[in-house]
Amino acid sequence: MTITRVALPIAAEQLFDYWLPAGVDAPDGSIVRVRLGHRRLAGVVVAHAIGSEVEQSRLLPVEAVEPLHPLPADLLELASFVSRYYQAALGMVLALLVPPLGAGAAARRSDDVAVRFTEPGRTQLPARLRSAQAIALHQRIVQLDSISPIVLATFDEAERRFFRSWVKAGWLAPAAVPVDAPTRVALNAAQAQALDAILSARGFAPMLLHGVTGSGKTAVYLAAAERFVADGGQVLLLVPEINLTPQFEARVRAMLPGASAVSLHSGLADGERRAAWEAAASGRAAIVLGTRLAVFAPLPKLALIVVDEEHDGSFKQQDGVRYHARDVALFRGRQRGVPVVLGSATPSLESWAHARGGRYRMLALPERADPQSRMPDVRFVDDREGRKREGLSDATLQALSACVARGEQALVFINRRGYAPSYKCWSCGWDAQCPRCAVRLTVHRDARQLRCHHCGHAQRLPGACPECGNVDLLPQGFGTQRLERALASALPTARIARVDRDTVRARGAFADVRDRFEGGAIDILVGTQMLAKGHDFPRLTLVVVLGADNALYSADFRATERVFALLMQVIGRAGRAGLPGEAILQTDFPHHPAYRAAARHDYATLANTLLEERNDARLPPATHVALLEAQAHDRAHVDAFLASARDCAMQCRAGCEVEIFAPVPALMAKRAGFERGQMLVQANRRPELQRFLPAWRAQLATRSSSRVRWAIDVDPASF
Ligand code: ADP
Ligand code: ZN
Ligand code: ZN
Repeated sequence: MTITRVALPIAAEQLFDYWLPAGVDAPDGSIVRVRLGHRRLAGVVVAHAIGSEVEQSRLLPVEAVEPLHPLPADLLELASFVSRYYQAALGMVLALLVPPLGAGAAARRSDDVAVRFTEPGRTQLPARLRSAQAIALHQRIVQLDSISPIVLATFDEAERRFFRSWVKAGWLAPAAVPVDAPTRVALNAAQAQALDAILSARGFAPMLLHGVTGSGKTAVYLAAAERFVADGGQVLLLVPEINLTPQFEARVRAMLPGASAVSLHSGLADGERRAAWEAAASGRAAIVLGTRLAVFAPLPKLALIVVDEEHDGSFKQQDGVRYHARDVALFRGRQRGVPVVLGSATPSLESWAHARGGRYRMLALPERADPQSRMPDVRFVDDREGRKREGLSDATLQALSACVARGEQALVFINRRGYAPSYKCWSCGWDAQCPRCAVRLTVHRDARQLRCHHCGHAQRLPGACPECGNVDLLPQGFGTQRLERALASALPTARIARVDRDTVRARGAFADVRDRFEGGAIDILVGTQMLAKGHDFPRLTLVVVLGADNALYSADFRATERVFALLMQVIGRAGRAGLPGEAILQTDFPHHPAYRAAARHDYATLANTLLEERNDARLPPATHVALLEAQAHDRAHVDAFLASARDCAMQCRAGCEVEIFAPVPALMAKRAGFERGQMLVQANRRPELQRFLPAWRAQLATRSSSRVRWAIDVDPASF
């Protein structure tokens, strides 16, 4: 009897044996359906055996083998690496590699993005259409600037089918991308040099493409992709944001019209994701574009990996298997012997340190690609001086008003959604706290609610202070909603819209606002960091940043690095196409080195300073850390578990050069009703940490109780 060893998506570090019915073939990597207790699970066959230690009468059969490509050997090896490195059960890691099973009938995401006809879609498509209904549909929508979800909702089933096939064939492209965008540009000298370095790399070659915003990094990736694809290879392109994939995909299709490209991200319907996965696994898809999960796509002909905006926090998964897609991409590049290009205007200090130390090749694009475009001037407005109206200084309002009067556009950026970040009693000092988290509640004025942005708790705005009965309660501080109102009253003729998680919850809403802004129907866009990434708006000439100071008060040692990166990104949004741009930063600390460096568009100096600080303080990337996080309803249980975890770390340290820190409460000491604590383990050399962790984790597993939930986060992104 053939026994298969199956890894199942459960936290236990164990494989399960099942017998394989005669005549059924399930090589290693096959995705199978089995029973575990009362549950039916999908798992991955990782080994075969002749017999099992489990008593024969208790062995269950494999119930079905999924008709999918088995996971190839290199992916099984990758999963095993990720499981070891990130201290996660193999079955949980493999679950990330398995595409959604059973073609789902859920709505297709591609329907939710506003699109419009490309030039060939306008002119050449009609001659190819046969059915009268298709011709009529084409006539009806060909002149629209943008076919948004609202228009789509009017289609019947047959029209939807035509429409989808046109999208698929590339006759329609996301509306945010200018139809007449030059599909191909002649690379400038710096770009050509970078391209040359990528193309001449042999085997594994990590490279950092450091280029200011608008320097033409994407043009370099795509030119490199074109060459690798022409040689029959597959290219993996990782991007941080689902919202950016349609735009990026359109650019890929425009630049590489012959190459078959698929997208892989969690916003796709199951059936679509599975089809994309199959296209990657079979080698049919030459370009696989996706968010962090796509790093696990099967790619038999992998020839190049690109990680765009490599510094972005969304590449790190914060729960379950806490992998960092950029780091997994680097492992994969080494495993497969292919170049890995990390691109960013503001590289992570980790990558910057490697590039400076010579472990990564540094490729620099110091200038904007478009010779007409200059980096915007940055002006500081001292928040402590002058008159202000609802948080907006006179100077800021004047600049906004002048910008709108010139027929140009502005972006007002604040990293807080809601109306105000706290609600306060001026008589006794009480402020509204979440009953389940150690944070203040945010005022949502339209809904007349206080909401917690961490656990979802919501309650009515109280009319009086629960402590002293005073009715004079005031929202304190500013969020996107409050700014939107303030701007509307200060600039009554400006057309203003807001973009944050509250306004773009509905599918397609983000693309819709972006299209309206691009089409000139909005003058001022107010929003959170969602707006910071990757969007090119030619008439956007003014960027205003408010509330950046908040991040400087954070206790997280990466706060300065993050606020600096974010500032460089937002500032880089302004003045992309010939029109001079300006950025205004309202701050209490106009002389802060991070702000000054951002104003000079000088990444390197600040990055080097920060690296020195990290070195002196023995913080990453100068050291390597893992964080043990624990939570329980009762603080005493958290403390007891962490105290025992510390003892246990001291015991099983045995010769590993690691430093073990005392347990402390998490930065957010309570969340969603759970008390939280953490404990840091640090090493000067990564292998020492990697040697220590498995033994410690095994010990922790024997000591934990059902009352305490815990996890080890290797290379944690935040504290
Ligand atoms: P990045 O990815 O670095 O932000 P992009 O690749 O998006 O930059 O390029 C920014 C803008 O410059 C785009 O509009 C692009 O079409 C244009 N561009 C890129 N390379 C060139 C070039 N060599 N000559 C002229 N324009 C270019
Ligand atoms: Zn009070
Ligand atoms: Zn809460």
